[in-house]
Amino acid sequence: MVAPEINMPPRILLGPGPSMVDPNVLKAMATPLVGHLDPEFLGLMNRTQSLLRYVFETENQLTVPVSGTGTAAMESAVANMVEPGDPVLVCCNGYFGLRLADMAERYGGEVETISRPWGEVFTPDEVRAALEKRPAKIVAIVHAETSTGALQPLEEIAAIVHSYDAILIVDVVTSLGGISVGVDRIGIDVCYSGSQKCLSCPPGTSPITLGPRAIERLQQRKTKVISWYLDLTMIQKYWGSERTYHHTAPISANYALYEALRLVQEETIEKRWARHRENAQFLWDGLESLDLTMHVPLDYRLPSLTTVRVPDGIDEARIRQHLLSDYNIEISGGLGELKGKVWRIGLMGYSSRKENVLLLLAALERLL
Ligand SMILES: *Cc1c(COP(=O)(O)O)cnc(C)c1O
Repeated sequence: MVAPEINMPPRILLGPGPSMVDPNVLKAMATPLVGHLDPEFLGLMNRTQSLLRYVFETENQLTVPVSGTGTAAMESAVANMVEPGDPVLVCCNGYFGLRLADMAERYGGEVETISRPWGEVFTPDEVRAALEKRPAKIVAIVHAETSTGALQPLEEIAAIVHSYDAILIVDVVTSLGGISVGVDRIGIDVCYSGSQKCLSCPPGTSPITLGPRAIERLQQRKTKVISWYLDLTMIQKYWGSERTYHHTAPISANYALYEALRLVQEETIEKRWARHRENAQFLWDGLESLDLTMHVPLDYRLPSLTTVRVPDGIDEARIRQHLLSDYNIEISGGLGELKGKVWRIGLMGYSSRKENVLLLLAALERLL
């Protein structure tokens, strides 16, 4: 028996990622391969780096896609900054903060965490108090918590972290390309993302950027980076002028990332942020008119990922099953503290469209 061909239904992806992919990106992936050191591919790598600086809002030289998913970029940030014995402060108000803390510990960090209930954000004073109690060399925080739908303000926190001479690592996996991340404006030292959320590219290439303070720290390490694959001192030489072989860049995935970034530039990043905000507002208004309640207050509600409370007496998993089987719509359930309590609705990149919002609202109205 020959295995069946791939035959996927035409899903409308409104979950926490992957988001839908522009047909132009899919077309780019079908481009014939060239060698990863072919001059044409090297040119594409350089242009990809410029486009990444544009979306990160940075001039940082060391700005590259990590070959792997968002978690690989997260691990790269941690592995390159943390040396065994380093005091690390991780802000945990959702699933991805916990993942960062676990990683920092595995790389030998002396990890301390501060926490907030899922759906809330940290105040600058909470970070200051934690650093006052025990200074840390590295502070890690999530900008857009995909597990809770909260958007963390960063300006003041960045200033506090720097006043303690620490490095700030920020997870922008669910904000890059959908919400301003302002790496240089805010002064984020290490910032990483993924391709399959607001950049609307298949998973597999994950942007990371390091500012001057992070580069200095990398150069002053006393020990080698524990992960060989994620060691940016070597990856830097592959993406820089030396072009020293480190690993084979995933060619087709890089074609996709390049095209996805080019589409951001074509739309302009400012218009893309505005589109994410407007379509999110359209969704929130529609959900409220169905008598549903958002989990996160408007002040720090994330446009790219909405958590909406499941009404009493409703089997949340059954609604999701029907959305998928009857309407081809994917949304997601809650994680951790919010399991069974919320639905998570993503409006990211190419998925952030008025017609998708209308379709989801109409389907939800029928099912509820
Ligand atoms: C999705 C996500 C990740 C992990 O990315 P993967 O591509 O699933 O490895 C990390 N942080 C946040 C905030 C995310 O939403």
